[in-house]
Amino acid sequence: MTSLSDLPIRDDLRGQEPYGAPQLDVPYALNTNENPYPPSERLVKALGEAVADVAGTLNRYPDRDAVALRDDLAAFLDADTPGLGLTGRRVWAANGSNEIIQQVLQAFGGPGRAALGFEPSYSMHPVITRVSGTRWVNAFRDEDFGLEPERAVAAVEEHRPDVVFLTSPNNPTGTALPLEAIEAVLKAAPGMVVVDEAYAEFRRAGTPSALTLLGGHPRLIVTRTMSKAFAMAGTRLGYLAADPAVIDALLLVRLPYHLSAVTQAVARTALAHGAELLGGVEALRRERDAAVAWLRAEGFAVADSDANFVLFGTFPDRRRVWEAMLGEGVLIREVGPPEWLRVSVGTPEEMAAFRTALKNAMKESL
Ligand code: PMP
Repeated sequence: MTSLSDLPIRDDLRGQEPYGAPQLDVPYALNTNENPYPPSERLVKALGEAVADVAGTLNRYPDRDAVALRDDLAAFLDADTPGLGLTGRRVWAANGSNEIIQQVLQAFGGPGRAALGFEPSYSMHPVITRVSGTRWVNAFRDEDFGLEPERAVAAVEEHRPDVVFLTSPNNPTGTALPLEAIEAVLKAAPGMVVVDEAYAEFRRAGTPSALTLLGGHPRLIVTRTMSKAFAMAGTRLGYLAADPAVIDALLLVRLPYHLSAVTQAVARTALAHGAELLGGVEALRRERDAAVAWLRAEGFAVADSDANFVLFGTFPDRRRVWEAMLGEGVLIREVGPPEWLRVSVGTPEEMAAFRTALKNAMKESL
C-alpha cells in the first residue's frame, strides 16, 4: 500500500489536513451556513428546463467568458446596492467564491508574495493562499471580533502584503466591518484588498456594502456567492465585482471554460427567480436575531451577527457540547476561537431543535 508520505508531494503540503467540515446525514444540519429553504417546485421545474435546453449543446464548450451570466450578476448587484451602475465588464464568475479567491491569489499572490488576513476568519483564506504558493500572514481582530481601523492599518503597514483579506460579515464571528475600516485599509495597502462578502445579503439595516467603494478604488475586489442567501450552494457559483483591469488579470489565470454550460444555465435561471430565492432571507434574519437574544438570555456570550449564523460560547470543553448535540441529531460547527461554537440559522423548527439540544447538552455537561 502506498501512503501519501511515499509520494513526491510538495514539501509544503506534507502533513497538511484536507478541508473537512463533517458531511453527516443528520436531521438538523446547521453547520455550513447554507440556506435551509430548498427551491420551490416551480423553480425546480424551471431549472430542469434550463438544463434540458443546454443538454443538446453539450458537445460544444460553454461561453468561456460567461458574458450573459456576468451581465445578470451585475444587474443583481445593482438592484441589491442601487446606484452602482455596474456592468458585466466589472463582474467575474467562477465555481464558488473559493475559486474566485484562488484565481485572485494566482494573479496577485504567488511565490515571494504575501497575503494577510485578520483571524478569526474564514479558514479557507489561509489554505488557498498557501496552496497558491503565497505566504500567509496572520493578523488579529479585536477582542469583540471587530477591527479598529488603526489596528488594521498598523498590521498592513508592518507587513506590506500583496493581498489583504477583509471578511464582512465575518465568518465565523458574524461581525460586519464599518466602511471606515475598509477605506483605511484601502488607503494603506500596497496591493489588492479583497472584501469577502459571502454573507452580505444577511447584513442588518444600516450596514453598507463595500460595493459602494468600488468607484475610485481600482485595487478593491468585492466577492459574493450564490451559496448562502441565494440558496444555491449546490450550484457552485461565486462572483466578484472590481475594476475591469482586475478582470483582465484574472483572465490570465483562469482555466479555459471553467464554468460549465450547465452551471451557467442554472445560475442564470436562479437569478431570474432571485426574488423567490432571496425570499427566505428576511425570515432567516429574524430567526438569527431571535437566536442571539435567546442565547444571551440563557447566559451565553454571543457575537453580534450580520450573517446567517451565530457564534456563541464560552465552553471549557466545546467538543463535549458539540458531541452531545450531535447525539440529538443537531450538527453545529466547532470552529473559530477554541471555546466557541457556531450554529447556522435554520428554519423555526430546526432552531427549536437547536435550543432543546443545547439545553440538554448543558445539563449533561454539568
Ligand atoms: N467566503 C466565506 C466567508 C465563506 O464563509 C464561504 C463558505 N463557507 C466562502 C467564501 C466560500 O463559499 P462558496 O465557495 O460556496 O462560494
